[in-house]
Amino acid sequence: MKAVRFTVPGAPPIVENVPIPQPGPGQVVVKIGGAGVCHSDLHVLDHGAPGFHGPFTLGHENAGWVASLGAGVTGWKLGDPVAVYGFWGCGHCHACLLSMESYCENAEHLSNNGGGIGTDGGMAEYMLVPSPRLLVPLGSLAPRDAAPLTDAALTPYHAIKRGLHLLTPDATAVVIGVGGLGHMAVQLLRVLCGARVVAVDLDDRKLDHARQLGADLVVNSRNAAEAAETINAFTGRRKAAMVLDFVGIQPTLDLAVQLVGRNSQLTVVGVGGGTIPLTQWTLPFGCSVSTPLWGSRAELMEVIALAESGRIHVDTHYFGFEQGPQVLQDLRDGKVMGRGVLVP
Ligand code: NAD
Ligand code: ZN
Repeated sequence: MKAVRFTVPGAPPIVENVPIPQPGPGQVVVKIGGAGVCHSDLHVLDHGAPGFHGPFTLGHENAGWVASLGAGVTGWKLGDPVAVYGFWGCGHCHACLLSMESYCENAEHLSNNGGGIGTDGGMAEYMLVPSPRLLVPLGSLAPRDAAPLTDAALTPYHAIKRGLHLLTPDATAVVIGVGGLGHMAVQLLRVLCGARVVAVDLDDRKLDHARQLGADLVVNSRNAAEAAETINAFTGRRKAAMVLDFVGIQPTLDLAVQLVGRNSQLTVVGVGGGTIPLTQWTLPFGCSVSTPLWGSRAELMEVIALAESGRIHVDTHYFGFEQGPQVLQDLRDGKVMGRGVLVP
């Protein structure tokens, strides 16, 4: 079967033929319906998956149909449409038992962090999933539409839920970077709370999209000082109760710091390598900073329910596996709107 693969850090992705996986005892093979192309794939291509060697098949945003069941697997039947939960924890620590596997206590000792992050992922016709606990039913959603929900929607959903108590109708949330994750964050904020939503990006097309998705104010941050002034005028003395940074580079973090108020949350999701100076005086009192990772299996069920009822919708664009390297390059160049999805 064809697969889009990582080889060594810094090398471009390649498309090559690899054997179709067979499930061992307790494992499941999923026939892929769609694999989302995430900016994190670019981090994997550039730096590798920390602690793990290639080559492996990319793709950590996956959905499809149960194709074969290993010995002893019960509860699923062939053809069931499923989302594949992306972070594969140990399965038995406190975090994993809460289904929050991205916070697995044994993460440092695992042989991979999930398909596409140290072992074969879903940018291929079939994917081996080590345990049925990592499958979430898709209901009526088509796998290729649902694949990005497992990360592009789950990650912002989890990040927003952590601070939902702050998002009262008189509050404002700011989303920096309205690409794959950010365009879902705007929609999720609209359905989860009454707070006003500000979208920030460098690309006016992304901002137009954010406005269509319900952002109350869109701001191009190419002039950061003006952007901060515009947003702070909009939020008033309370400033932004929550700032979600889906870029995480120094300029966006510097902007985020100027937007938060007392008791706010500054949530850094983008893996951009910027830093935030933390002293008693560099952030407003009570402001918390966090770097959440992905979300829980239970939260993935909640996200799927929101998509099934039509309350959120991923703006998907479909491509074949052969086009995988080009789509990854387009994402790097900022040309992808919403989410690119590779389909067999
Ligand atoms: P994307 O490329 O689809 O979107 C990024 C958006 O940011 C684009 O719209 C781009 O125009 C905008 N942008 C770029 N530079 C900007 C700047 N200086 N100011 C304002 N906007 C800017 O990427 P994505 O797939 O949505 O991923 C976003 C980030 O989140 C990546 O760093 C990715 O690795 C990370 N991520 C983190 C987690 C997690 O659990 N923490 C999960 C998934 C992805
Ligand atoms: Zn664990």
